[in-house]
Amino acid sequence: MVQRPSSRWVTIVRHGVGRFGWLPCSIHHSDGAGALRATAPRPVLDDLDTLPHPNLAQPLYDPSWYSAQAGVVTPGGILTSRGCPARCTFCANYVTGRRFRFRSAADVVAELRAAHLATGATFFPCWDDALTANRARLFELCATLEREIDFPLGWSAITRASMVDRPLLEAMARAGCVSVNFGVESGDDEILRRIKKGITTATVVRALEWAKELGLHTACNFMLGFPEETAVHVERTRRFMERIAPLVDAFSTLGVVVPFPGTPLYEDHHERHGFTEWWLRPTHARFDAPPPIADRERYRRHYVDDATLALDFFHYDEPMRAAIREALRWKGEHNLRRLGLLRDAPGTLGRDGALGRVQECV
Ligand code: SF4
Repeated sequence: MVQRPSSRWVTIVRHGVGRFGWLPCSIHHSDGAGALRATAPRPVLDDLDTLPHPNLAQPLYDPSWYSAQAGVVTPGGILTSRGCPARCTFCANYVTGRRFRFRSAADVVAELRAAHLATGATFFPCWDDALTANRARLFELCATLEREIDFPLGWSAITRASMVDRPLLEAMARAGCVSVNFGVESGDDEILRRIKKGITTATVVRALEWAKELGLHTACNFMLGFPEETAVHVERTRRFMERIAPLVDAFSTLGVVVPFPGTPLYEDHHERHGFTEWWLRPTHARFDAPPPIADRERYRRHYVDDATLALDFFHYDEPMRAAIREALRWKGEHNLRRLGLLRDAPGTLGRDGALGRVQECV
């Protein structure tokens, strides 16, 4: 995956290929002599209850890799399902499969109980691609959690606005859900249609209103720079973010579009834009972890900049780059303000406000 991987990554790759055999896609790994090899695709696993609980590997984690709160937040969170039935053109969910499969409620409860007993963890981010894709099974899971978990459980969910309704969100909140992260991607209905997102801006507003009425923390993911977009579309997205901001606790950081392999976004554009197998390029295959909150300048930049813009996958023109930067700046500042890390200089932070006109308050 990278030409000079870190020793930690090499360890995972060399020893982990067999353990990742459940993935339906190919795994690229080092053969130990510097060459990359790919495993053959595997069939999709239907019965997820047959898998051992990942949290049993807890003693193998070094909590210092994750956060000072590692005793409370379970490293890695939990997966209660795999796959997503939607067909968004950019989504890397081909890794877990398009077919939605889910664990039994009893199996999820058993993993949560074991993890809590072993570590004291009480909060579990659910990293399912689309936790709410099957309404009936989620009602059953929530009822089981409510009935059988005897510690103060909290969890978060990721989903799409069209996959929730008020009764479902109510059931989730009763079962300990405290936060829902909605994949929104664009504030322009024409772009949402072209990326096959399966939602409209009206769907998003309605879902956020339900979530806030129920006291849930809300987050929204937006993506900026689809090849179908112009600066006008990105500006529309920024204005939509402004509109829903009172209902949103956090916008996802970063968000410049990345064409992941295997997606229609990659297949349709890699030849024309010259990014074929970009993940093998050292300049592209890198990961910058969020800086510690104590490093204020880097932390602020992390929430406002996105290094992906410099990779320039889709050769944006200058108006497009400016529109993307402005949208990144806007949502980054929204987050920092919500975190109490920014306060507005009186009368200066408007739609065309610049970072330099905002004062830090910490
Ligand atoms: S709804 Fe979310 S998980 Fe499902 S295909 Fe779209 S982006 Fe991927």
